[in-house]
Amino acid sequence: MKRRKFIAGAGLSILGMNRLFSQEPAAPEIITKKRAQIINTKVLVAGGGPAGIGAAIGAAKAGADTFLIENQGFFGGTAAFSVGMCMNQMRPNEKPRGFVHELLLQKLQNYGNQAVRLSTHQFFVNVEYLKAAVLDALDEAGCKYLVHTKAVDAITRGNKVTGVIISTKSGLVEIRADAVVDCTGDADIAFFSGAPTLKEEGSLSAQTLLLDISNVQNYSNKDMAGVVKNAKSKYPLIPDSWMLIKVSNCHHYYINHSGTRDLGTFDVTDPFKFSKAECLSRRQVFQMTESMREFGSGDLKNCEIVGASTQIGIRESRRIEGSYILSEDDALKGSRFDDVIAWRSGWLDIGFKRTEQMRIHQVPYRAIIPLKIDGLLAAGRCISASHVGAAAGKSMGNCFATGHAAGIAAAMSSRTRKMPRELNVKDIQEALKKDGVDLNVGGETQSPTMSM
Ligand SMILES: Cc1cc2nc3c(=O)[nH]c(=O)nc-3n(C[C@H](O)[C@H](O)[C@H](O)COP(=O)(O)OP(=O)(O)OC[C@H]3O[C@@H](n4cnc5c(N)ncnc54)[C@H](O)[C@@H]3O)c2cc1C
Repeated sequence: MKRRKFIAGAGLSILGMNRLFSQEPAAPEIITKKRAQIINTKVLVAGGGPAGIGAAIGAAKAGADTFLIENQGFFGGTAAFSVGMCMNQMRPNEKPRGFVHELLLQKLQNYGNQAVRLSTHQFFVNVEYLKAAVLDALDEAGCKYLVHTKAVDAITRGNKVTGVIISTKSGLVEIRADAVVDCTGDADIAFFSGAPTLKEEGSLSAQTLLLDISNVQNYSNKDMAGVVKNAKSKYPLIPDSWMLIKVSNCHHYYINHSGTRDLGTFDVTDPFKFSKAECLSRRQVFQMTESMREFGSGDLKNCEIVGASTQIGIRESRRIEGSYILSEDDALKGSRFDDVIAWRSGWLDIGFKRTEQMRIHQVPYRAIIPLKIDGLLAAGRCISASHVGAAAGKSMGNCFATGHAAGIAAAMSSRTRKMPRELNVKDIQEALKKDGVDLNVGGETQSPTMSM
């Protein structure tokens, strides 16, 4: 009886809602799609993280009219919104890797030693200097760029990408290009254009909102002893694994941690899951700071939060599917390829889940071109790779390197009027060599100090 009443009530409220809606005038729904402007360029790079910077500088240096767009208000991607993360594999064995890496270093060094400190392979950077140094490098290379612009769709003719639609404050803008390089990290352009993509949803790496703390003069690992164990019941969102690292030449500590690892699997290409991960993480970093103040020892008791990243750092999401998919085996064996366009060094690192030494391995050109769709290349963390293959070599220096190659190929595609997949790889290799890239690297084991 009670149940019948409930159902009848529910039906009425639905009917009520319908009546309310039916009173609205029957006007056609209009979605305003005013295209404010059309921009034409030879090469368009979408996403201005390490890969996008490499691609934009690579393409511009190769002589192409190049346009770079970025969703945030600054360039640098995870390197810039990470509040202090070191840029790994920028100079493995302290040796220059190529033109784009060195141009950024030169621009950072122009700001003095507050901006950058070099180590065995990494640049320890202060992110505010980094943001300015990237602009200096892009200006010198002659790239045009826009920040606060998000690519929201791809323009295609047949199977070819001919441009992207960006969302701006004046509405939607079309950017038409001969070749597009997808450096969005999440293979957005490939996905919008209908190219096949890869994503192992069940095993995505953790996403992490990084944070900076200050007011800690001296810190040693023992100050953190017991913090997680003792604070967990009061602060349930705190992660199990944390790493405190001194920010380059300053008095802050930057904290990398296992983020969402124990809170679920979050696919950031799903807007609901992306929002959930971001919002959980905002509370998580606050709980971490409170935990250190209440349960830490030494100076940690006085720590103060300086800030957290602009957004959660994404270790892994959607990637393109190319005719070659880089795998765990390639990383462990140190594979080499005839169509090499870059190499990846560092660790096989699945964010606080698995860390293992790997060999330096090469990236074939086939892994940066999507199947089925022409006029498009990818670089950085969205190249064609398996879940473990993606984790191996996601260090920023490697992302710069695939970006550099993709930029050169895009410029060549525009100049020769050939699709990226029709180019002669030898020409791309030759151009990379001229830019100081040694492609005869791959297969070597790495010493722990060089790779960490
Ligand atoms: C928590 C964490 C810790 C890490 N630690 C290290 C470390 O210590 N050292 C290291 O070298 N590497 C580290 N990495 C890995 C490294 O940061 C990434 O692999 C690297 O930044 C990937 O570069 P990318 O350019 O491919 O992508 P991203 O850095 O993600 O950059 C992508 C850019 O594209 C923009 N974008 C995305 N979608 C759009 C769109 N539709 N339109 C316009 N712009 C768009 C984004 O705003 C972003 O700026 C870490 C990563 C994470 C998440």
